[in-house]
Amino acid sequence: MRFHDAARTAILIFAMILLSNAQAQTETGLTAQQLSDNIFVLFGEGGNVGVSTGPDGTFIIDDQYVGSGDAIRAAIATFSDQPIRYVINTHWHYDHNGSNEHFGKAGSLIIAHDNMRERMASGGYLSAVDRNIPPASVEALPVITFGDTMTLHLNGDAVYLLHVSSSHTDGDSVI
Ligand SMILES: [Zn+2]
Repeated sequence: MRFHDAARTAILIFAMILLSNAQAQTETGLTAQQLSDNIFVLFGEGGNVGVSTGPDGTFIIDDQYVGSGDAIRAAIATFSDQPIRYVINTHWHYDHNGSNEHFGKAGSLIIAHDNMRERMASGGYLSAVDRNIPPASVEALPVITFGDTMTLHLNGDAVYLLHVSSSHTDGDSVI
């Protein structure tokens, strides 16, 4: 019983975080923090956005909500004029991949775990917010997927993508 109570509390807290983020969705403006010469993080609505930019272009990790694409572009434009070539999704929740369609239509290649793509393609019930998520459009779906690991060699870095099973969802990745 104690475990179930703890699990329920964790889910409730998670739901509250999601809902509070959703209510802040109309606010504009992201803040960017530089972590190294070519790596940044954007804070704002939804999940944080990791950014690598350099001679190979720009890639981002997650892209927040539907409608966040222009704000993400504007924030990145303050420190880079490189095109956004890749979008990596950590998992299928809509506060992390909501702008996939925006970036996919613009030509960015979207990368995620095999299960993440399946979840997006089929949609499903998200118990944390008691909400049915509809299937995503074709343009929003990852076009490159992987099973256990993948490595990108970009901007002088080896970027490791690692699937974490039995995690937040069945398609979570650590990058
Ligand atoms: Zn999530």
